[in-house]
Parts: sequence; C-alpha cells; structure tokens
Amino acid sequence: MITRIRPLDDDALDEAARLIRGGSLVAFPTETVYGLGADALNDEAVKSIFAAKNRAADNPLIVHICRYEQTFIYATERPFYRELALRFWPGPLTMILPAANALIAPSVRCGLATIAFRSPSAAGARALIERSGRPIAAPSANLSGRPSPTTAAHVYEDMNGRVPLILDGGPCAVGIESTVLDLTGEIPVILRPGIVTAEQLRAVTGEVRIHPAALAQLAAGEKAASPGMKYKHYAPRARVTVVSGRRRVETLQSLYDQTANAVLLVSAATAARLRGKIELCGNGDAASAAHELFSALRRCDELGCEQIFAEGYDASDEGLGVMNRLLRAAAFDHIDTDQL
Ligand code: AMP
Ligand code: MG
Repeated sequence: MITRIRPLDDDALDEAARLIRGGSLVAFPTETVYGLGADALNDEAVKSIFAAKNRAADNPLIVHICRYEQTFIYATERPFYRELALRFWPGPLTMILPAANALIAPSVRCGLATIAFRSPSAAGARALIERSGRPIAAPSANLSGRPSPTTAAHVYEDMNGRVPLILDGGPCAVGIESTVLDLTGEIPVILRPGIVTAEQLRAVTGEVRIHPAALAQLAAGEKAASPGMKYKHYAPRARVTVVSGRRRVETLQSLYDQTANAVLLVSAATAARLRGKIELCGNGDAASAAHELFSALRRCDELGCEQIFAEGYDASDEGLGVMNRLLRAAAFDHIDTDQL
C-alpha cells in the first residue's frame, strides 16, 4: 500500500471522508496526538486498525464524535456526563459510558460492556467526523508500544505502507493523549491522566478518584480497569530512566557522567545547569513538557543513544499526565531523589 501525506485542506478532507465511509483507514490530527481512524460502525474497518498498529486485540478504542448528544444513540447516560461534556468538550477528555446496544462495532470495545467517547476540538478532526457522517474509532496512529505521534512525519515513520492517507495538520497542540474518565461507577475514576486534571474535573463532579495504575505498574495477575494499562507504552528504542525530586539535577549529571552513549532529556531551565548531550523537552512546566515529550523521545532515538535520563515532574495536576507517560516509557525505572 502506498501512503500519501496531504496537507489538511478541503479537498483532502473530502478524500479522507470518502475513505472512511468506504471502510478504509485515515490518519488525522487531533489536539492531543494523531489518530488512526476508521468508521466505528464498520467492524471490518475497525479490525484493520488493530492490524495496522499491531495492537493487542483486547485493548479497546475511543470513539470520536462531534456533539455530546450523539453518544445517546449508542450508550447510556451517567451522572455528570452532560455537565462534563458542556465544560470540557470539545477537548482532551474521554468519557466511558455503558454501551446501550451493539451499534458500535464489537471490535471497538473488545468485549467490554462500556464504550469510550471523545469530542475532539481540532478543526480537522471535527471536519472529518462531520464529512464522513460516522463516529470515528481512533487510537493513536503509532505502532503499538512506540511513542504516540504528534506530527504527520511521526505517523509516516510508523505507518508507511499501512495506511493510505495521512492528513497533515501540523504539530498537535496538547501532545499527550486525552484524560480517560470512567463514569460507569459511583465515583468517576481517572484511568489515564492527561491535560484535563483531576482538580478541574472535581470542580464539576465533587469527587474523582485516580486509578493507582496512573503511576504504578499493575501487580502480576491484577485485572486492568482499562486494558491499555497493562501494555508497554510510549517506548523509544533506548532504555529510559526517570529522575525526579529536588536533587534531580545533580543526580542526572552523575548518572550521565557514569554512562556510555547516554542523553539527558530535560527542560530548557534544567539544561542550563547540566553538561553533556541534551535533548530539550519543554521550558520547565509540565504542560510544555507534555507538548514536546513524544517528539523528544523520537529525537533521542534518532541520536542512536542507548540510555535516556529523563527529568521527572511532580505527579500532580498536568505533571501527573507527563509522569504517567514517562514512567511507562521507562518501564517504571524511576529514581525519586526525595526518597533516597
Ligand atoms: P489510545 O487511543 O491508543 O490512546 O488508547 C485508548 C485508551 O483508552 C486505552 O488505554 C484503552 O485501554 C482505553 N479505553 C478505550 N475504551 C475503553 C473502555 N471501554 N474501558 C476502559 N478503557 C478504555
Ligand atoms: Mg495509543
């Protein structure tokens, strides 16, 4: 299969919408990361997403819609759903609702009784949903296990030959995937932290729990609330070690000095205090780190380094989403200098 990249314009959107309606895949930009989309009502099309990504068959997909009322066709409403949709949609929040029927293709939810929905804010994503006239199932447009793509070039790196069309809408604004919030229980639970924070959600719902798997490895044999929790994620080819806490700068320097073929992945503020091979990731705050994290991990790979020492963040607010991605990229290899 030949993979074409087209700038996201009117004509390219028309072609993309035709492809989606015809059961093909299209990679497209959202405000979080690039998605690999298919008609969520067409099971064969959805299955081809799993094949193109090498995605585990039990890891369900998020269904993208434009208006919150569209979920009522497929799912049952839950407390706070409307309030959250009115406050955070369109935007980087995914909400999990009980499935009401089998209209959404079975491969989307992989046998679960629930469906994850999101209404993206990126204009190109919205236009693709509108023009195709379908809910669009889309995971991130990377090979499973690799850092999520935040540019069309990243998608091409992983998906060349696996998808007919990549819509290029430039770099993604947010840079990490949506916050995933499970609304099916009594208290809403964050299954995957993102740029919409627990505090922001609590302002609407009162209570919100954060699933322990946000920052820790599942225990052997523990059942994953969200199947994505149990897979290796976001990993560059090099080994990654996360170093956080008040003495991170000295620790990063000494680890770097003792390791052959290493690179430091740090903010611009921290870089000014370090010597060595450096890849920049953000200017010191967690939101800017989120924006650059996945492309910075890919750049580290291009350097051909074997070990990345990455600066960690306080695991609160937006930092929680960044630490969730970093710790998974590091397979939970983490030095917290406040605990030494
Ligand atoms: P991705 O689109 O690649 O960012 O992955 C979507 C994430 O949402 C994965 O971690 C999935 O496991 C999770 N997810 C999707 N649908 C559900 C669902 N019905 N219940 C729990 N988690 C879900
Ligand atoms: Mg993904």
